[in-house]
Amino acid sequence: MIAEPFAPRSLAPGGVVRVQWLGTAGFAIEHAGTVVLIDPYLTRASLRRCLLDRLVPDAVAIARHAPRADAIIAGHTHFDHALDIPAIALRTGATVLGSRSAVALCRASGVPLARVRDIEPAPGGEPVVAEVGPFHLRFVPSAHSRLLLGRVPFPGDISDCDQIPRRAGRYRCGAVFAVEIRVAGRLLVHLGSAELVEAGLGRTEPDLLLLCVAGWTASRDFPERVARALSPRAVLFSHWDNFFLPLERPAVALPAVQGARLAERLARASRDVKLGVLPLLGEVWI
Ligand SMILES: [Zn+2]
Repeated sequence: MIAEPFAPRSLAPGGVVRVQWLGTAGFAIEHAGTVVLIDPYLTRASLRRCLLDRLVPDAVAIARHAPRADAIIAGHTHFDHALDIPAIALRTGATVLGSRSAVALCRASGVPLARVRDIEPAPGGEPVVAEVGPFHLRFVPSAHSRLLLGRVPFPGDISDCDQIPRRAGRYRCGAVFAVEIRVAGRLLVHLGSAELVEAGLGRTEPDLLLLCVAGWTASRDFPERVARALSPRAVLFSHWDNFFLPLERPAVALPAVQGARLAERLARASRDVKLGVLPLLGEVWI
């Protein structure tokens, strides 16, 4: 176990923002009837399917676990972040916010372009911001963990997106974003890969950091850099679960994830930070 599970009301007894973990780096964040999804990956194809087949979103899992969305954010476009985004957008009518690779995926899947927004800034430009109901979103260019023998898996952009469905390896990484989410006076930050680019982040002291665990040991001094750059009040660990297993089963940690060591180093590098996990589909309020 990486850390003890957060009880739903453990971070703020009067919390008004609901944060539900969808497995991997996926979250549903809801306030006052508006729902923002980040990196929702509900299909959780088996390892065999990922190796052998073109990946098709699981419509039943999507209908069950992502029934509503006003906006869907793609932090990057690896399959375990982006596979389900076009299908959820088509089903819910949500707007998609993502890289040019995410835009290409949505276009090829038939999502109306009026509901797809490219959040890559112009070279040298400021991070893109967006409003979704009561949510204020800011997309800070970030980086992906070099978790595959010192390299980013499936690097590059998706530009040749003429064929859907496609194999797992053709979901190239695309641009990577850290996402700042301001709503109801709270600040959440989502890091969907275990790497960060300090320059754009500022010491924002988020009320809750949604932190990817997978591949963190490949990023030098990762826990200390996270603590120094962000100074979060609470950290909810994500992307530590074996996502080749279905959502209905209890989460099983990925091999060699070393979550306890990450938690220990984060706690040592921070002051009074609360660290926790959620069960699959569990929720916490802030
Ligand atoms: Zn990735």
